[in-house]
Amino acid sequence: MTSFTPRVFSGIQPTNHLQLGNYLGAVKRFVAMQNDGMETIYCIVDQHAITASFQNPADLRHATRELASAYLACGLDPAKSVLFNQSQVPAHSQLAWVFNCVARMGWMNRMTQFKDKAGKNAEKASLGLYAYPALMAADILLYHATHVPVGEDQKQHVELTRDIAAKFNHDYGVDFFPETQPIIEGAATRVMSLRDGTKKMSKSDPSDASRINLTDDADTIARKIRKAKTDPEPLPETVEGLADRPEARNLVNIYAALAEITAADVIAQHGGSQFGSFKPALADLAVDKLAPISTEMARLMGDVTEIDRVLSQGAERAAAMAEPIIAQTYDIVGFVR
Ligand code: ATP
Ligand code: MG
Repeated sequence: MTSFTPRVFSGIQPTNHLQLGNYLGAVKRFVAMQNDGMETIYCIVDQHAITASFQNPADLRHATRELASAYLACGLDPAKSVLFNQSQVPAHSQLAWVFNCVARMGWMNRMTQFKDKAGKNAEKASLGLYAYPALMAADILLYHATHVPVGEDQKQHVELTRDIAAKFNHDYGVDFFPETQPIIEGAATRVMSLRDGTKKMSKSDPSDASRINLTDDADTIARKIRKAKTDPEPLPETVEGLADRPEARNLVNIYAALAEITAADVIAQHGGSQFGSFKPALADLAVDKLAPISTEMARLMGDVTEIDRVLSQGAERAAAMAEPIIAQTYDIVGFVR
């Protein structure tokens, strides 16, 4: 077995505004891995953003720059990490085509994200939404990434990435693509909707009240938490007491992740409290942690030329890393060049 240099890759789609789950489940982890000194590549996956529904071009451009500003405001540093948007590096699409021909229909049919996003009307979903996980595998394997920090919802796609790598290696008799590990860590790997504790919080949920956006002001954050769905019981005295209470568990996990403590610590401090007192404490904490980020994002968005410069410089670095890998892939496959 070839041993692959540890390398981190992850990405976020520029759809709408970044939400709290993206921050706690993904970006906060991205920053931690960058600061651990690992080689890190973080992408704004704009080609994924057009898979689910029609994106107004001006909105897509804005969301791409806003996501770049969020990456920077949260502490990603273009001197330490490669930061760029996917569409500036055509090798993502080139490798995705090869992987479309490696992945099996049966594998794709098991993807729960497609079922969730396509809903009852799968016939009307785009081919791109169906092929999304093969493009994601290409995003990761184009850099021979070994570690992918993601939220719980992306675990299945990273597993599919491993299946694609294994089948490619097997079919062509090579040991070329690594077995990538998903890194799903922290107290909030699956932040749930504030309106429904059984549904994940998402940028693209039609209800703005279901999520906290990184661009929300302090009053909006406090109002959304105050209105968050809960049950009538006070918080339990033990973590086990959260087992059948999805909404209570969600708020406790959010508190824990924001405060960088465990759910057990939150229960030790707030067990027995009514939501009438816990929600304001959570709102204060959220505002405390998120307001500096949204202020910095707004400042960065004042200079879009600078954001575009950061992205194109990052794209040049990413393209230089991708170039030998796509060239070797084409040689392995037998494309004459
Ligand atoms: P969309 O609704 O457009 O799919 P999203 O909110 O699911 O948006 P993505 O761009 O698909 O965001 O995912 C970006 C990253 O954020 C992924 O690593 C994903 O696992 C993580 N993530 C998304 N939602 C949550 C959540 N509710 N809790 C924890 N992590 C999340
Ligand atoms: Mg998603």
